[in-house]
Amino acid sequence: MNKNILNSPIEYLQGVGPQRAEILKNELNIYTFKDLAYYFPFRFIDKSKYYKTNEISENLNYVQLVGTLSNFKEVKQKRGSRLIAEITDEEGKIELVWFKNTKWIKKGYKPSKKYVVFGKPSLFGNKINIIHPEMELVSEHKASIQTGMKPVYHSSEKLNSKGLNSNGISKLQKKLIPEIIDHIPENLSEKIINEHKLISKKEAIKSIHFPNDSISLQKAQFRLKFEELFFIQLSLLKNKLINKEKSKGFIFNKVSKNFNFFFNQLDFELTNAQKRVTKEIRKDLNSGKQMNRLLQGDVGSGKTVVALMSILIAIDNGYQACLMAPTEILAVQHFKTITKFLYNSKLNIKLLTGSTPKSKKNEVLDSLKNGTIDILIGTHALIEPNVGFYNLGIVIIDEQHRFGVEQRAKLWKKNSSPPHILVMTATPIPRTLAMTLYGDLDISIIDELPPNRKPIKTSHIYDNKRLQLIAFMKEQIKNKNQIYVVYPLIEESATLDYNFLMDGYASLERDFPKPNYQISVVHGKMKAEDKEFELQRFIKKETQIMIATTVIEVGIDVPNANVMIIESAERFGLSQLHQLRGRVGRGAQQAYCVLMSSFKLTDEAKIRLTTMARTNDGFEIADVDLKLRGPGDLMGTKQSGILNLKIADLAKDTQILKLARFVASQILKKDKTLSQEKNKPIYLHYKDLEKDNFSYGRIS
Ligand code: ADP
Ligand code: MG
Repeated sequence: MNKNILNSPIEYLQGVGPQRAEILKNELNIYTFKDLAYYFPFRFIDKSKYYKTNEISENLNYVQLVGTLSNFKEVKQKRGSRLIAEITDEEGKIELVWFKNTKWIKKGYKPSKKYVVFGKPSLFGNKINIIHPEMELVSEHKASIQTGMKPVYHSSEKLNSKGLNSNGISKLQKKLIPEIIDHIPENLSEKIINEHKLISKKEAIKSIHFPNDSISLQKAQFRLKFEELFFIQLSLLKNKLINKEKSKGFIFNKVSKNFNFFFNQLDFELTNAQKRVTKEIRKDLNSGKQMNRLLQGDVGSGKTVVALMSILIAIDNGYQACLMAPTEILAVQHFKTITKFLYNSKLNIKLLTGSTPKSKKNEVLDSLKNGTIDILIGTHALIEPNVGFYNLGIVIIDEQHRFGVEQRAKLWKKNSSPPHILVMTATPIPRTLAMTLYGDLDISIIDELPPNRKPIKTSHIYDNKRLQLIAFMKEQIKNKNQIYVVYPLIEESATLDYNFLMDGYASLERDFPKPNYQISVVHGKMKAEDKEFELQRFIKKETQIMIATTVIEVGIDVPNANVMIIESAERFGLSQLHQLRGRVGRGAQQAYCVLMSSFKLTDEAKIRLTTMARTNDGFEIADVDLKLRGPGDLMGTKQSGILNLKIADLAKDTQILKLARFVASQILKKDKTLSQEKNKPIYLHYKDLEKDNFSYGRIS
């Protein structure tokens, strides 16, 4: 035996061999002894607890009880028969049911003997029962090894076919762990272990596979989750430190005419949150380091104003600025808003998108290079290689999750030294997740809406209430209000959705006939100029209703529109519903959001719709979303390896995550390079992880 036993190929483990090894590699990525030792159970069954029959409810996961078996009763049903028996203890009795192997069951178990029964309780016709329980004679149970917490491992059909179901994997662990346990190195420092009362790595690995009881299991889970999150945070924070050191940033120490001009003509006062965030940004811009900041704020919280002030600071210091938006509509909208805000300044603001005509485009590119353009606003077109700046000082990226990391990196490189970066997102994500996903960005949050906003009234109604809905719409239109009607757009079925929208359009035209009513339509299949035309009709109040697919999801700002109707709302995700709802409630009138759905709703859809009706708070909604979907699904972060966690759960282990981040930052504060002797175990493990391409939050 030597230290490298951890790296022994898995086929050398007794009980594995070439065939099983192949499957372990393909199905579970298990190549070595170490990989198997780190393949943790995902669930545990508490076999140390015995329930009494009167304690059992259908909400319990698995239960174990002891009692006397009754005679079997056979009930004929449509297909085959059902076998029923009862188990009785001093508190009462509970029913056991079998649908399969009934002959064998009848022969195998003896009525009036005492059994240990194990299974999942369920409710069937108002009666609690256990279907297909595991049973063992009490006398035999005592001798059996299955006491304490029984681990359950994920398996698959292929693994199963080679005897590697959960029990099979558990058997392998029984061979493996004793053989390697003394070779598992400690990877945290003594100081951390003592300060946070962690158990050792060895003990944790042993207990996670073979916990004696629920307390030792909890300790093992805590230790392993902590360790996992700690090294992620260490990597994130270390990268951030390195980036900060490496990347000198332009110093914008002047705040002068353009900023002041804008600030003085604002006809509202900034909210406290806007003031705080502006201060954070100004500090960054004056620090000599490149700013990399994420600006989070709910729809309508006033991020654009903050972004604009940052842009003006750059201009006041003699630099250019650009703003990149994910869609053409949104870019145009930004262009208009910003032009309007700055209309009697002397600044040169230009728009560049995919549909900018070639001659116009060349003109823009020229004046961008010679520095006559101050602010360039656009879409992905901005990151094409032929777009070059004179001196780009700051980049604002709106709606960050739609841009890939690489796209961002391209903008980074538009200058000899990197410009300051401000990423804005209106998709609130819980802070803990943000810390991990954007770990190398600093985070600013606008957690306050401008005053005098009336909360949007949201209701969920079923399709059969459509007549009432139409009456409501007519009343709103009579009061000179405008209405959005949104249809789902899911890419795989674009044609279907298009038809769906067109059907909706036809029926709305019947209910809202011309010339009294006018309707705009905007969908993904239209040319940019047609979309713009329809949008303009709506903005100019020539139309009262705008039917659209989710192209209007982001950024459209028509303050007079106060009703958002979402068709087939059950087909939208929570954050999308929230984004859509954010299109209304920008004016002085009471705003409404109506979620239409069919009666057939999954449990999750019901939660989504009731959550929407209950709250307007984007962060609360994001929390529910995270819990419903798990972090892996949020905003296309699936690919980002960051969420391939072995044991920790970013949605649930928030407290451990905070602790891990805190501890990691404390260590880096005193020992940036992890070169102190006491941090050696950490350093060695970190190097190991780096070899496995473990690196989080690398942006460029
Ligand atoms: P976001 O980009 O965060 O969705 P916007 O910056 O578009 O929000 O702001 C939404 C609306 O609120 C805009 O019409 C903006 O002019 C206005 N607004 C922004 N800040 C304030 C404020 N402090 N007080 C009043 N209105 C504000
Ligand atoms: Mg905005």
